[in-house]
Amino acid sequence: MSARSHRSPRAYRGRLLTPAAAPAGGSAVRFLDDALLVVDEAGLIAQALPFAPGAFRGPVLDLRPAVLMPGFIDAHIHFPQTRIIGSASGALLDWLERSVFPEEARFRDDGYAALVAAEFTARLRASGTTTCVVFSSSCPGATDQLFRALLHAGLRGIAGLTLMDQNCPEALCVPRDEAIPAARDLVQRWHGEGHGLLEFAITPRFAPSCSRPLMEAAARLAQDHDLLVQTHVAETPAEAEATRREHPWARDYLDVYDRVGLLTGRTLLAHSIHLSSREWDRIAETGSSVVHCPDSNFFLGSGRMRLGDARARAVPVALGSDVGAGRSFDMRRSMSSAFDNAVCLGDRLTPADLFVVATQGTADAVGLGRVIGSLDAGKEADFIAVRFPEHVLAESEVLNHLVFASETAVVQRAFVRGKPIYP
Ligand SMILES: [Zn+2]
Repeated sequence: MSARSHRSPRAYRGRLLTPAAAPAGGSAVRFLDDALLVVDEAGLIAQALPFAPGAFRGPVLDLRPAVLMPGFIDAHIHFPQTRIIGSASGALLDWLERSVFPEEARFRDDGYAALVAAEFTARLRASGTTTCVVFSSSCPGATDQLFRALLHAGLRGIAGLTLMDQNCPEALCVPRDEAIPAARDLVQRWHGEGHGLLEFAITPRFAPSCSRPLMEAAARLAQDHDLLVQTHVAETPAEAEATRREHPWARDYLDVYDRVGLLTGRTLLAHSIHLSSREWDRIAETGSSVVHCPDSNFFLGSGRMRLGDARARAVPVALGSDVGAGRSFDMRRSMSSAFDNAVCLGDRLTPADLFVVATQGTADAVGLGRVIGSLDAGKEADFIAVRFPEHVLAESEVLNHLVFASETAVVQRAFVRGKPIYP
């Protein structure tokens, strides 16, 4: 009997909030005051229905008055930056030099990597994040420790060895003939492990720190195994200038990734702030997705991503904390910062928009939209139970408190594929 099928069906009773089918361009949610979420023996959602006596004959765990909702999905986070959150040492390139690279060099020590990996997964679980898309360091041993910790924690995770073979400190620089075989080994060891909860992602840090041959080899590996690709693009003007210097053969920043074969229907482009109309059009043509990291963009002063540019072209948008430039593991901080980002641009997002982007929208963008992201029947039961103050009763109050007063909305439990992972 497989590890997936030893449990019997059970139900969870509580209030329930989930994204619902919406008219194009809109966001809709479904809210039930008293609901049963029925999970089958394989960890799939069998039903999410209004509570009625006798509606379910198996064991029921009563979580009222908590609100059951999809677990959060963090589409962009750096595991080796867990301990340097809040290092206000300048804009992107200075911050990398002063704060990030010295810390990431410590991950050559497997013991240190294992220690921080345990902290990393504990903080994700406590924040109600059930799926993460992660940059490791450039060290294969640390990446192995990260996967071990994700497996041990029961999290759903897509993670990759960060590729960098130029313009970085010696301690982090891994040449192509070492990095690609190491990535291939990690694919063999971890891709599809945890009965499919874990995936390996091709992860070039960003164009300035990667040679063209490294990126081309990485693109081939992605194609061979149909792997997700994640990288950064157009976060700051200084980084774009460094990209132009390193890769003068490309017509613009995005074109670097395009010409080496890294723009696919499974590519996540973090930040995407300083892009031309041509670049946006090309992202749409290739079917790639962008990851909005507003809290990080505020912290480093990188600029404001224009959500409208993505939405006008139906480019899928995920939300990412970008810890450690992002200041919290809690995706609700990212939702709140996305609201602020939009206000700065003269737009307004509703709490329902933000909730839907952070759940179903992010699931769609990372290619898991049919598996997770809502509490619909047939999906895998990745969900959390959140407790609100007693006076928070109506759907609008729940959404407002969830997004903007998250310190009053406590994550009490988290489940992945029906299995408890928190507390
Ligand atoms: Zn990042």
